[in-house]
Amino acid sequence: MNTNFLQTPIEYLKGVGPNRANLLKMELGIHTFQDLLNLFPNRYLDRTQYYKIAQLQQTNAEVQIIGKITHIKTVQQQRGKRLVATFVDETGTMELVWFRGHKWIKENLKINVPYVIFGKCNWFNGAFSMPHPEMELLEAHEKSIRSAMQPVYPSTEKLSNSGITNRVVNGLMQQLFLEAKNGFAESLSKPLLEQLKLLPKNEALFNIHFPKSQSLLARAQYRLKFEELFYIQLQLIRKNLLHKAKIKGYPFEKVGPLFNTFYNEHLPFELTDAQKRVIKEIRNDLGSNAQMNRLLQGDVGSGKTIVALMSMLIALDNGFQACLMAPTEILSVQHYNGLLELCNNLNTSIEILTGSTKTSKRKEIHEKLENGALDMLIGTHALLEDKVKFKNLGLAIIDEQHRFGVAQRSKLWHKNEYPPHVLVMTATPIPRTLAMSVYGDLDISVIDELPPGRKDIKTVHRFDANRLKVFRFVRDEISKGRQVYMVYPLIQESEALDYKDLMDGYESIVREFPLPKYQVSIVHGKMKPADKEIEMERFVKGQTQIMVATTVIEVGVDVPNASVMVIESAERFGLSQLHQLRGRVGRGAEQSYCILMTSHKLSADAKTRLETMVRTGDGFEIAEVDLRLRGPGDLMGTQQSGVLNLRIADIVKDSEILKIARSYAFQVLKGDPSLSLPENLPIKKTFVQLAKYKNIWNYIS
Ligand code: ADP
Ligand code: MG
Repeated sequence: MNTNFLQTPIEYLKGVGPNRANLLKMELGIHTFQDLLNLFPNRYLDRTQYYKIAQLQQTNAEVQIIGKITHIKTVQQQRGKRLVATFVDETGTMELVWFRGHKWIKENLKINVPYVIFGKCNWFNGAFSMPHPEMELLEAHEKSIRSAMQPVYPSTEKLSNSGITNRVVNGLMQQLFLEAKNGFAESLSKPLLEQLKLLPKNEALFNIHFPKSQSLLARAQYRLKFEELFYIQLQLIRKNLLHKAKIKGYPFEKVGPLFNTFYNEHLPFELTDAQKRVIKEIRNDLGSNAQMNRLLQGDVGSGKTIVALMSMLIALDNGFQACLMAPTEILSVQHYNGLLELCNNLNTSIEILTGSTKTSKRKEIHEKLENGALDMLIGTHALLEDKVKFKNLGLAIIDEQHRFGVAQRSKLWHKNEYPPHVLVMTATPIPRTLAMSVYGDLDISVIDELPPGRKDIKTVHRFDANRLKVFRFVRDEISKGRQVYMVYPLIQESEALDYKDLMDGYESIVREFPLPKYQVSIVHGKMKPADKEIEMERFVKGQTQIMVATTVIEVGVDVPNASVMVIESAERFGLSQLHQLRGRVGRGAEQSYCILMTSHKLSADAKTRLETMVRTGDGFEIAEVDLRLRGPGDLMGTQQSGVLNLRIADIVKDSEILKIARSYAFQVLKGDPSLSLPENLPIKKTFVQLAKYKNIWNYIS
């Protein structure tokens, strides 16, 4: 079939007049036959077959099973109870679960009598369970009439009110398949189909709309999810490879005296395996003559600074300059001080340039940069000013990427004959699968290991009712010489209310921790910057023991003696925020604590967030949970990213398929970069088509 068939406007399908066409366009974005074909069902009602428990698949489809209840029990949960029945057939065991209506169910369910149950199966903790099943005694069931397995399509109120019911959509789909006569072109190569045992395109499309069985449906879903993810990865990886082939960078061939001297004589500690691996990855990039474009991820405290320095030393060894840009003045100063100390015994020059650099100093830096006397420059956006001209910038390191626009980055490298190598560092852990999709065209390095000897921050969840106990604990810690943060939420929409909470909290803390024995600092967004600084200073110097603050505590505050973090109304914070806040303690040698205070009213998500914080300190694990709770769009402000407008796959649930798709996309492009082998013809065709009709896809989503 030629592709024109699929691009036929939807009004030409039998059964679709101008009115229906309009509704389909407005409500579901269906403009063409292709769009209709790609309207995949949300779920399926399968009353054609009876499944054995051992045959169940993770398709999310609704199934019916014949079996008996052997046992019912009530399970206490944090809030309320759940009723759990053990349900068995001759092949296995599963659970039926009810969250409501326990009394009625308990009184009416019959033990050891055959039932037909119907509903959606969840795969949870290695077993299937069915919440709130429809149930019928087998005896009664055998007398009733049932309809066939039915796809349930996405719909809107307007559609169903206008008579475009699920049955109508179903009928249109049948018409489309009738006209297409199974002539949908294969879009994957033979080797891929064979290696992965994928259903051919025709069969996959047929079974996604008209499943013949649960197992064919599962295979159809797998094939289509794979295909969707495969083409996204193919695009991203191709972009990366093209970049490498086209954009030349300076090849830093040698690892010279500076790097070696530092490595052999001045390394202040043994590098972690993760640091070694990442440095190796960067060295390989710098040694090739393609421009490096690498993202370095590592949680706070994972030791990115030394990796940055050693990368810069390679540039210096090859006769080039290097720079490091940070989003704020405070962070720039911190980097500068850290690097200065590390470079103490090295024969290099390093300067800092920010908005507050004095004019005379600024002039001096400009000159030394241009004549090559200055090796390394650290600073803020000030580095991007026109007057800043490097003699030969070979490596640019950018800290915390989302705060710098891409345009600014490109400005930096336009100062040069060739673009410098670029290393972007971020302390925001991004789940691997999300990184693959959003940054799939960058190379990614991950420091997934903290330096040895870090103590875990003991984290607990306490209800407001236990506040006095918490205060007692805080008093004990203060008497040992420790300092304490107490953080209040500040959310834009309810600023006035939050401000009142903060002030009430402050007053009660001052009452509980009275002068002169205790000194309490307070910092919040409504204070003048100068006053804020004075209060911060007092806390940093240890003159106050408690810092009451909203979340606006300055980025990068580092008070090693502060070992207790109390977070008020913790249920109102997002996971990444909680993780960042907790990172403020645990910087010294002492055991540190994080106490999450909440009321008793907690949503299910809030509970999960709190449990996650208590369970783990691993930023990546926390980011994974955050992704599951909030979805990819919310998590990264990636709503606009077309990469995440998926039709059938779900980058959270289908992360395994994503990994496989990525590795196969790599393999295909490695073996045949221009997709010109005969076996890859279907891939090439699809790839070109996707690029061609991209505007249509954009329009739809
Ligand atoms: P990041 O920038 O990733 O948040 P830093 O580079 O500031 O982390 O490192 C955090 C702290 O850990 C610093 O005090 C640093 O000296 C120390 N550090 C880094 N790597 C190691 C290591 N391999 N062994 C011991 N300490 C380390
Ligand atoms: Mg850092």
